[in-house]
Amino acid sequence: MSDQGLPSIDELEVSGKRVLVRCDLNVPLEDGAITDDLRVRSALPTLEGLLGRGARLAVCSHLGRPKGQVKDELRLTPVAERLSELFDRDVTAVRDVVGDEAKKACASGDDVVLLENLRFEPGEESNDPAFADALSSLADVYVNDAFGASHRAHASIVGPPERLPSAAGRLLVNEVTTLERLLVKPDHPYVAVLGGVKVSDKLDVIGNLVDRVNAMCIGGAMAFTLLVAQGRDVGRSLVEKDRVEDVKGILDEAGEKGVDIHIPTDVVAAEKPTEGALHETVPLEQIGNRMGVDIGPETTGDFATTILGARTVLWNGPMGIFEIPEYSAGTKGVATAIAEATVEGAFTVAGGGDSAAALAQFGMTDAVSHLSTGGGASLELLEGKELPGIAALRQASA
Ligand code: ADP
Ligand code: MG
Repeated sequence: MSDQGLPSIDELEVSGKRVLVRCDLNVPLEDGAITDDLRVRSALPTLEGLLGRGARLAVCSHLGRPKGQVKDELRLTPVAERLSELFDRDVTAVRDVVGDEAKKACASGDDVVLLENLRFEPGEESNDPAFADALSSLADVYVNDAFGASHRAHASIVGPPERLPSAAGRLLVNEVTTLERLLVKPDHPYVAVLGGVKVSDKLDVIGNLVDRVNAMCIGGAMAFTLLVAQGRDVGRSLVEKDRVEDVKGILDEAGEKGVDIHIPTDVVAAEKPTEGALHETVPLEQIGNRMGVDIGPETTGDFATTILGARTVLWNGPMGIFEIPEYSAGTKGVATAIAEATVEGAFTVAGGGDSAAALAQFGMTDAVSHLSTGGGASLELLEGKELPGIAALRQASA
């Protein structure tokens, strides 16, 4: 049993058994090639550990959104190839999830079987008991190492723990342990740096963190909804009008609790949110009829100073449209400050798919204490919710 009440993989009998391992191998693909293999590499410690203890594996994952249908471009073939390279051993990639090929391979002596994309089966997302039965019957025991999918009550996440001896994999335990450090007894000063596009996705996180942090730095498109809540003019920047009232409530609460809220004072104002559009850095008051596409240098400096004074930093969401180099300076500046804080001994965590992509783009993946592999899952955990996958494991062990 881990500190989090999760059944430990070390106490699971695996020698000579077929272990169904649910991983999150949902990698970004471009023209059939993996553009970032972080999730495949992150799955290795658990898989290697199990193989070292004499287990045979049935690895499974979803990829993209095939919506219950077989889509050739979403087959796990590229993942199987990368896994085989990283492992330096054969991977038997089967072309179905619970069909004859899968059954045959799982009953064979093959060490590593990779089942086909779980979401080719409609029963995966609908959590169909018959599909959960079929999946569980391929193996003797189950390990959930798919942190990034554990906020979904899908069949492969919540089904097997009811049917097989089950445990949490290394990555899952590591993610939960690390993220819980941001909620339980974090070192202060504690700063949350939030950005990205949708306030509505992150309101609950902000609400749950207001009680815990000393300061929040808010950039990205999300900052404009806050600025509107404060009665400021933001030109044609992205604003979620129906969230302005909620944001006002959170700002009031932050004020009462003495949380310092840092918001942009200058921005990169562009005619259009596209590469090569006419743009300049201006104080917010001069945004005119343009769109804010990045935080300006004054704001970046203010955020950096706040970050450098922190002992704990949570970062979720880019400060601007970082995918376009001209609008990436704010995000890069914040990432650099977080990297420096890490070197100075602060505990720093980055989460969110696009924040991870930004770090990868800057070659800074190793610059934080922890880079979460789960976007939605990390947000839900930080909202204070119990993830269905984690609940299922805890119940199985109870
Ligand atoms: P994460 O995946 O890290 O949680 P989000 O998905 O919330 O982040 O947001 C990422 C997206 O936000 C990026 O694609 C980025 O281009 C966009 N973005 C950030 N700032 C702005 C802005 N000022 N205007 C429009 N889009 C923005
Ligand atoms: Mg995202």
